[in-house]
Amino acid sequence: PLLLYQCPNPMIRITELRLPLEHPAEALPAAITERLGIAPAGLLDFTVFKRGYDARKRDAIVLVYTIDATVTDEAGILAKFNKDQHINPAPDTTYKFVANLQGPPEIRPVIVGFGPCGIMAGLVLAQMGFRPIILERGKKVRERTKDTWGLWRKHQLNPESNVQFGEGGAGTFSDGKLYSQIKDPKHYGRKVLAEFVKAGAPEEILYVSKPHIGTFRLVKMVENIRREIEALGGEIRFQQQVADVLIEDGQLRGVVLASGEQIRTDHVILALGHSARDTFQMLFGCGVFMEAKPFSVGFRIEHPQTLIDKARFGKYAGNALLGAADYKIVHHAQNGRSVYSFCMCPGGQVVAATSEPGRVVTNGMSQYSRAERNANAGIVVGITPEDYPGNPLAGLEFQRQWESRAYELGGGNYEAPGQLVGDFIKGIPSTQLGSVEPSYQPGVHLTDLATSLPYYAIEAIREALPAFERQIKGFSMYDAVLTGVETRTSSPLRITRGQDMQSLNVKGLYPAGEGAGYAGGILSAGVDGIRIAEAVAEAMLGKNPP
Ligand code: FAD
Repeated sequence: PLLLYQCPNPMIRITELRLPLEHPAEALPAAITERLGIAPAGLLDFTVFKRGYDARKRDAIVLVYTIDATVTDEAGILAKFNKDQHINPAPDTTYKFVANLQGPPEIRPVIVGFGPCGIMAGLVLAQMGFRPIILERGKKVRERTKDTWGLWRKHQLNPESNVQFGEGGAGTFSDGKLYSQIKDPKHYGRKVLAEFVKAGAPEEILYVSKPHIGTFRLVKMVENIRREIEALGGEIRFQQQVADVLIEDGQLRGVVLASGEQIRTDHVILALGHSARDTFQMLFGCGVFMEAKPFSVGFRIEHPQTLIDKARFGKYAGNALLGAADYKIVHHAQNGRSVYSFCMCPGGQVVAATSEPGRVVTNGMSQYSRAERNANAGIVVGITPEDYPGNPLAGLEFQRQWESRAYELGGGNYEAPGQLVGDFIKGIPSTQLGSVEPSYQPGVHLTDLATSLPYYAIEAIREALPAFERQIKGFSMYDAVLTGVETRTSSPLRITRGQDMQSLNVKGLYPAGEGAGYAGGILSAGVDGIRIAEAVAEAMLGKNPP
């Protein structure tokens, strides 16, 4: 077992400390003292800040630690290793609020959307005393779960309460992967993870290198954060769709709900997510500056998880510390397109992720245990606005076109069109499943996916699948199943903001998170929520006047 000591005053950070996968617990302090060249008594305490693994050599997988250590002679050690990039003073990662409002704000800030971005923006504003009003078009998470399962189990879609819309946002029914490659010099990601742990996430998310929490825990966590925001004087209103914005002379003055109710405010955070197509249309109609941006389209692929474990971990497949194996692969196709794996969900299931009637969209989720029989991932092709020329909303129409086509190919009842990988590569329709049972609910309709996406995407994926075989043995197995279409990989547009974090042409409007094109995942959306909350707080206090 791994020993995790609490280290109240970490002083030295050691990175890239490598130990064999199956090392005994006492090997870790021994490796630390050896690395620092000190006697055991010189190490007072230590914490594992991060633990990852390096599986490039399957037969010799190593654990890679980042350690924060308290030692008797900090100055001496730092001086001795001053040229060693892996031994440094431990950075201070505690979060520092930019404001602390005494008494209620004159006008309360409004946040539209209660996904990871709106949640973190709401929480941080509430913690600073700003009592935000949060408007969410969907329902509370437990009611929303029933509606989401209504589509998965009964073919019934509720366009206002589904995988995309409702308390917790798009990532609620997900794998709950909590890592990102964003630059984070102020350690906001740490604040997000710390708040998640406080709200019930497992503590390990703070130190494993690729943390995930799975669907059920996310549900509980989201409820706990909602309660904290309310306890701090914030207000969260569900089933309140923002249908219009009030703008006077380039300054935002409030929002109008679908019910007709107006809420006056000078500061609105737009944390809409990438599926709020009607809201994007409304904002475009109001003249809010936005531009088309690249995103990706493709399919979900499913393999037996055991195949991926074996290919990645060899004899260590099934090791508890490694968990179910993931992968990240990319292929540059001859037609100039890049094909890559997206949102890989080990031991999970493919989910129906549409928010609009008459459309089919795939995505993936898992439980914390990642114990389902199949591994799934998006296999997607990068596309750019040149592929969907027109106004900034053209990407939405492009997505709609292919999602409608998938609905039609799936038989018109929310089943996803699917095909065996072997048949897809050969270009023949599938009529029978093989050894891989697809997990998509409400069901998979076997067909030919050749016309389900633009030809350049089909061509690139056909070339990539056999090429991926070289990276993961068995990847292009005949019976692996493709389902489609994967179109909501990120927002097809950006609601551009300036240095002050406000819309380029509407002051007081703060576009944020994935929908505005500033995040791509739960963690990065949460981090952007903190950034935007700080910008709003500073503007409200006149520190950074519009
Ligand atoms: P969202 O989470 O989309 O939240 C936006 C919210 O705004 C929604 O709740 C919506 O109802 C609300 N809203 C929209 N318009 C209005 C309006 N007009 N009025 C009021 N409310 C409105 N990311 C990961 O990092 N790891 C994963 O494992 C992962 N798995 C995923 C699995 C699935 C099935 C899906 C769909 C996504 C997954 N993602 C994952 C992506 C992740 O969920 C998003 O990147 C993240 O949720 C974006 O956060 P956000 O707050 O910007 O937007």
